[in-house]
This record gives sequence, C-alpha cells and structure tokens, in this order.
Amino acid sequence: MKCPFCGAHDTSVLESRVTEDGQTLRRRRECGKCLKRFTTFERIEGPTLFVIKRDGSRQPFDREKIVRGVIRSFDKRPISIDLVASLADEVEREVRRKEVSEISSKTIGKMILKRLRNIDKVAWLRFASVYFELADITGFEKLLEKAAN
Ligand SMILES: [Zn+2]
Repeated sequence: MKCPFCGAHDTSVLESRVTEDGQTLRRRRECGKCLKRFTTFERIEGPTLFVIKRDGSRQPFDREKIVRGVIRSFDKRPISIDLVASLADEVEREVRRKEVSEISSKTIGKMILKRLRNIDKVAWLRFASVYFELADITGFEKLLEKAAN
C-alpha cells in the first residue's frame, strides 16, 4: 500500500479491526519512510448490483448516493453524520439481503423514507418531496396527511 503523504511503498500495518457490522476491516498503517499514519478500509464486495432509475437507465449501486441524498434533505437542519452513515449501511444491507441483481431507485427511496421518518420529520418530508416529484403526487399528499396527524 502506497503512503498517501510521500508515496513510499514501505508501509506497515499497526492494527487491524473488524467494524461492528463485521463487513469492513479497518487497518491503521504507518509509512516506513515519513512515519505518517493513515487508515485503510477493506470491504466485502457483493455481487454487482444495479439500480434502475425512473427513466429506465441503470447505474451501479452506490451507497454514497444515499448518504448525499439524505444529507441534502437535512439542508440547514442539525444532522448527525454517524446517523446518516448507519442509515445508509442499513439500507445497503437491506438491499443486499434481497440478493437481486437489480433494484429500482423507487424501492431504495422507500427504504430510506421508512428510516428517515423516525429520525427527522422535516428531512423526511423534504426527501419525500424530491422523491415523489415526478413519480407520484398523490403518494406525497398522503404522506403530508400522515405527517400532519
Ligand atoms: Zn510516507
């Protein structure tokens, strides 16, 4: 592994730790040349999963898109990055558990909404409004009714 600071190839592992969900290996490394430390993550690579978007196009599943989408829905509201990360992890796990090779962005959106609702109502509504923009206005109206109750 190349040192990100000086580019030397002489790096050694100081510590390896499996993360809570057992899916990621976190390694603390040290460069033998400049002695700076850095962290690497090793993740299990699932079979390639494609997301079918509303326009019918396919894109490889990307956990970061969930993170960005959720953060956007919080706008200027207080937000815990850890909470967003664990939401994205949960959604990814739920998606992977289905053991399918493709999944619609709509299904993923619903998984996100289900969790977001218990975290922050405003973010949940914002996410829902983006999510239902073109797909289903009636669905959004129903959500608004539910939120008002
Ligand atoms: Zn170095």
